[in-house]
Amino acid sequence: MYADVIIDISHERLDRTFQYKIPEELQGKLAPGMVVSVPFGQGNRSRKAYVVKITQNREVASEKLKEISQIIRERENAEGNLIALASWMSRTYGSTMIQALKTVLPIQEKAREKEKKKLLLSLSKEEAEKVLETCKRKNHKARVRLLEALIKNEELDYTETIKQLKISTSVIKGLQEANVLEVSSCRVYRNPVQKRKREEPLTLTREQKQAAEGILQEWDGQNRPCLLFGVTGSGKTQVYMELIEKVLEEGRQVIVLIPEIALTYQTVQRFCGRFGEKISVINSRLSLSERYDQFQRAQRGEIQIIIGPRSALFTPFQNLGLILMDEEHEQSYKSENTPRYHARETAIKRAELEGAHVVLGSATPSLESYSRAKEGIYRLFRLSSRYGESTLPQVKIVDMRQELKEGNRSILSRRLKEAMGGCLERKEQIMLFLNRRGYAGFLSCRMCGQVIKCPHCDVSLSLHRNGRLICHYCGYETEEPRQCPSCGSPYIGRFQAGTQQIEEVVKKQFPQSRILRMDLDTTRKKDSYERILSLFSSGEADILIGTQMIVKGHDFPNVTLVGVLAADLSLYAEDYRCAEKTFQLLTQAVGRAGRRGKPGEAVIQTYQPEHYSIQAAVTQDYEAFFQEEYSFRQLMGYPPAGGMLAVLGSCREESLLEQAMEYIGIFLSRLPLKKAQTSIIGPADQTIGKINDQYRKVIYIKDGNRERLIWIKDKLEQYIEMNKGFQKIWIQFDFS
Ligand code: ADP
Ligand code: ZN
Ligand code: ZN
Repeated sequence: MYADVIIDISHERLDRTFQYKIPEELQGKLAPGMVVSVPFGQGNRSRKAYVVKITQNREVASEKLKEISQIIRERENAEGNLIALASWMSRTYGSTMIQALKTVLPIQEKAREKEKKKLLLSLSKEEAEKVLETCKRKNHKARVRLLEALIKNEELDYTETIKQLKISTSVIKGLQEANVLEVSSCRVYRNPVQKRKREEPLTLTREQKQAAEGILQEWDGQNRPCLLFGVTGSGKTQVYMELIEKVLEEGRQVIVLIPEIALTYQTVQRFCGRFGEKISVINSRLSLSERYDQFQRAQRGEIQIIIGPRSALFTPFQNLGLILMDEEHEQSYKSENTPRYHARETAIKRAELEGAHVVLGSATPSLESYSRAKEGIYRLFRLSSRYGESTLPQVKIVDMRQELKEGNRSILSRRLKEAMGGCLERKEQIMLFLNRRGYAGFLSCRMCGQVIKCPHCDVSLSLHRNGRLICHYCGYETEEPRQCPSCGSPYIGRFQAGTQQIEEVVKKQFPQSRILRMDLDTTRKKDSYERILSLFSSGEADILIGTQMIVKGHDFPNVTLVGVLAADLSLYAEDYRCAEKTFQLLTQAVGRAGRRGKPGEAVIQTYQPEHYSIQAAVTQDYEAFFQEEYSFRQLMGYPPAGGMLAVLGSCREESLLEQAMEYIGIFLSRLPLKKAQTSIIGPADQTIGKINDQYRKVIYIKDGNRERLIWIKDKLEQYIEMNKGFQKIWIQFDFS
């Protein structure tokens, strides 16, 4: 047996492993993550090394191989654990060990970014205004320019400001000495919370207490992952905080995972108010080296809790006690880069390696988690009522086909208009949500609501520029029909409303109302997302119009009406999960209304009122939805009822890619697999068939047995590596 090791973990050089022989006395004793000593380089100096892989495949001539000297440590530090995790990831998701290591280990950049200095106000805005007045009176023009800019922006780039506002450093020095502004280097991480007063813990409700106690009991016993299934507004966060408190008391650390989109100022503040300086936050806006700094602080024990998206999972805490995953159903927990890991599975693996606990939370659990909870693999806890006086909103459904028949061609139904009018009169707020998730070129019938689907895969077909309809799972193609295949009406076409159009319609209908719009266009600038939300939150607008960005985790006490426009749009995504996503989005959207005592209402507009995901969202019946959806997945062999491996290929030359994917298909068909267990679908074009001049194709392999899928992946990896024909082709694996 042989061991692959990495010598230096300073990470800059994390680009290759070295192979060593495992001596007799160490056979069977080594595992990934262990620290060993090895002879290295000229003179065979003894060096510390991390074992990353145990293998039978020798890569170097036998006489050139040296032996491992001895074990130094058996995986007790954070890095050792993370290496063990990377080893699991590389096998489970299909990637090289180096790719996996680069995902889990904090990478220190070679050339550290140049320090970027910033200018910040040290005073409140009001105080700064006073200083500004004084400067104006004294005719200190440079100071006036600078102060005006700072009052407007809160934060300015040092070098840029000097250049653009033509300000000398002495002006900055002067204001600095007068304690009006401060110069901060970006490398000094500004904790978003430092200046906040501590918030005392709230008293838990009976239900919350039961859940927290139940979870603590589970930790003392079997320690299965716990799923906290709590309706929107039930106070899951309170339960999380209680659990965090307990883990901190034991001197262990906590990772809180939150989808990037819900990682708002509001959420962070709630945690920070309770745990103060013990916390740090990472998000995608941090540079690599800023992230590295946070990881260093965690490793040194300066912080005990980290909040962040997917990648926060790899925080190198020395004594990790708990991984909390809020909104566990969110798609963003799945990585799009090789290794394409899922943070839920990976969190569970990390917790297993380190003896930590895992708690998953959601108002709409993923099918994966809920089915596991039903089987007893996870432990289920429920919060079934909202906190306080709040009840879940009344939900009304509007059939847009009927609206059309009765002569209303507007995007807004009569019912929604009426509800909006009432709401504005009462001076309450409205959210209008345009469901555009998974929006692609599907065709639907405005008369009967039917969408043209693939006869083999039961997902929507998408319309291509050449006028043909194509299935992105199996490659099935057909002509664009002129009439609806169901009802014969000629009114088939694409759905074409955007948030901007809706804004115009609403403006016309309610000219007095103050409207905010949140979509990709209005959130391009760095802090615009936060700005729009805080404007709306402070009551400076009556109506917030937006895409799915607006439905996540925000708590607006004065919102009493939620309108969902085109609820069914996400149903037509060519993705077997589209019904699940639709149900989740609708439930989240409806959950935004009436959160503080005031009764809430939701109006859902749709062309398919009879679809089970919409029906179940209206009655807020998760169980009913789960039953329907799970049997669909079983019938079609889709996850979680079956396993699925996508082999994604991309290449600049289309014909080369076509050929390679054909070969993969042939190779697969020759493996000793049983048709009844394993099915192979495709090759087909990927959803987006070409990106940056790279053609993209995919083959799907469905099999209920995950281990067999991994075996198939291993075989494919070998085949692709040995075969010269694949050199120009980039192959990725994706398990779901
Ligand atoms: P969820 O995350 O389950 O949707 P939240 O944690 O956001 O719910 O709670 C909803 C609202 O109820 C929040 O404003 C929260 O402060 C309040 N709340 C929940 N539990 C309590 C409690 N035990 N005491 C006081 N307020 C609570
Ligand atoms: Zn029709
Ligand atoms: Zn198909």
